[in-house]
Amino acid sequence: MAKRVCVVQGEDAAPEVVVPTVQILEGMNLDVEFIWAETGDEAVAKYGTSFPESAKKMIDESDCAITGSTRNLGGVHGYLRWGKKCFANVRPTKYVPGLISPLKNPEGIDFIILRENIEGLYPGWEGDIAQLAPLKLKNDMLGVMLDTTAKGKFAVKVNTEAITRDICRIACELAMQRKARGGPGKVTVSSKYNVLTQSDEMFRRIAEETVRQYPELTFDQLIIDNCAQQLVINPQQFDVLIMGNQHGDILADEASALIGGLGLTPNACLGKEFAYFGSVHGTAPDIAGQNIINPTAMLLAGAMLLEHLGYGKEASGLEAAVYKVYQDGKYLTRDQGGDASTTRFCEAVKANL
Ligand code: ATP
Repeated sequence: MAKRVCVVQGEDAAPEVVVPTVQILEGMNLDVEFIWAETGDEAVAKYGTSFPESAKKMIDESDCAITGSTRNLGGVHGYLRWGKKCFANVRPTKYVPGLISPLKNPEGIDFIILRENIEGLYPGWEGDIAQLAPLKLKNDMLGVMLDTTAKGKFAVKVNTEAITRDICRIACELAMQRKARGGPGKVTVSSKYNVLTQSDEMFRRIAEETVRQYPELTFDQLIIDNCAQQLVINPQQFDVLIMGNQHGDILADEASALIGGLGLTPNACLGKEFAYFGSVHGTAPDIAGQNIINPTAMLLAGAMLLEHLGYGKEASGLEAAVYKVYQDGKYLTRDQGGDASTTRFCEAVKANL
């Protein structure tokens, strides 16, 4: 039976990369059906909401989704992430010749940031400090009590053992898959475990315990600020990096910059029963409607989607077709120093397939 993929076009410049990517995937003539959900501005005009019930139903009836970025985290993306419990955000960063990296020596950069996607700070449980009074919060090491008479706001950061174990397991499986293709088989966990000695230390400890169950893998740990600088100084040391929601959000953008910018890095959000694929970058509203947005991230997300659906050979073929455009250097988009349009770049990819 054909696999069904729900397409969410996204907003601002996002449809300019989603539409040609899906066209290329459709052109590969695989047993995959793409169905288009009405969301975003189009849905607001028609239904008065950016995420109508019909779109939710389409997602529920699909095996996975390919998604353009949206301006807000609620709506369709909130549903995909929290409603479908896609807790593992896989963000690969790989340098290939032809990319404009700001580093003197980018050769050999090839790692994944695996970011926990639904816990940490980003569910956005916030409120007034006064609400915390009943908890009588105290840091025993510092002997500091929280002054709940002060005016201000708090944000809660939650990490459960169950999700932490699940994400660490995925990190190990990814490292094993990469090892089978010649990777070093290394998992590095990063958090602020020296300061957050309960929550971030639990994250670190569970990562270590999980990796130790895989004798073929090596384990490393870095405090998050050190990790941020190690990414710049020696990114080649990394294979699979695992980190919490906010840390992964920030460092994955840093990682994109190492190889040439946000236009280049795809991501997959995996749950136990659903997955969706898209770009790390946002909606790029400043360049919307100009046909200049770099489609690389979305095309590589398309390759990740194919791999997820069991089309490994086709996924590698699409990835190679995208990277060949960089090796040839003739049809690069503006962010990569060229003057090709989005459409021209995609035509070059099609020709390489
Ligand atoms: P979000 O918070 O939603 O992730 P953001 O703040 O990271 O969004 P983006 O929309 O990713 O912002 O855009 C940041 C900058 O990078 C903008 O100047 C945008 O034009 C540029 N940019 C993002 N994606 C691309 C792309 N694919 N091609 C070219 N430029 C891009």
